[in-house]
Amino acid sequence: MPPPILQGCGGVIAYTVRSSGSLLLLPSPHLNSLFLTIHHRHLRAFASSVTAAKAPPCSSRCPTLRSFHFPQNVSLFLTGNSSFLKMERFWSGNSIDKNKAMVDNLKRYGVFNSDKVAEVMENIDRALFVPNGNSAYADTPMPIGYNATISAPHMHATCLQLLEDYLKPGMHALDVGSGTGYLTACFAMMVGPEGRAIGVDHIPELVETSIKNVEKSAAASLLKDGSLQLHAGDGRQGWPEFAPYDAIHVGAAAPEIPQPLIEQLKPGGRMVIPVGSIFQDLKVVDKNQDGSISVRSETSVRYVPLTSKDAQLRGN
Ligand code: SAH
Repeated sequence: MPPPILQGCGGVIAYTVRSSGSLLLLPSPHLNSLFLTIHHRHLRAFASSVTAAKAPPCSSRCPTLRSFHFPQNVSLFLTGNSSFLKMERFWSGNSIDKNKAMVDNLKRYGVFNSDKVAEVMENIDRALFVPNGNSAYADTPMPIGYNATISAPHMHATCLQLLEDYLKPGMHALDVGSGTGYLTACFAMMVGPEGRAIGVDHIPELVETSIKNVEKSAAASLLKDGSLQLHAGDGRQGWPEFAPYDAIHVGAAAPEIPQPLIEQLKPGGRMVIPVGSIFQDLKVVDKNQDGSISVRSETSVRYVPLTSKDAQLRGN
């Protein structure tokens, strides 16, 4: 198996790699030494807890490809602040300029390449969805209360791109675990007034806030005309009223893919869902015309659990 390569990892806030052999860390040119030092520190910290794993020498600057060798199977959990967090300090201009700069950076460094995704992310200002006092444009998840987070911009961009072909004008989209409403708003912009974008979250207070967020955004008219709807409910049951869906996104990690969501996916449709507990994979579930499903893993991820309301509020 070739060694995993973390490329352009400036946009990665939490990245899990299961590796045996070597890990190649290929920094993008935009990464500054501080960011790499943070990564090294995590890598060293983890590596030192693994018997016989050799921690790489840590230098303050690391402009080129680094290869770290581990003599046994290890699981690496790399976390770090994003370069965007630091870059943001140097950005000037208004909110929309900063939002555009964030989107440009995600695209420039290869997180996504779709013009349609860039357009919708530029139109939906992330700052309207991130609680006040947070760095709205940093590439990191942010707490939104109730043991939930708004996902990092690179995850939003990744999911939008995976679902792009299933979010054409007139199509139906379901966003389970809609949280702040950010992605539901993006979906609504893509499917347009003749389509449907339905967000479901089981915390009624988050649903209320998400409605207020959307009302301030470029998707406000879609909320008003009903093509964008945000509901309180257990998203594991989907939202049968507007099924079948061309696109289903799940914003919380499920122990397994909920059957009602498979049933509510249209033949020819696609679901993107994180599956797992400690180690999670972002699964891409395609429903074939005969009703069978094909599942593949896109990447390793870290999401809050898709669970009961009580379990979430208890924090387990
Ligand atoms: N995608 C959203 C939120 C991600 S956090 C955003 O980026 O803003 C995951 C969300 O899933 C939380 O808001 C949490 O309340 C919700 N959630 C978890 N389990 C759920 C369930 N069973 N039904 C509905 N929502 C759920």
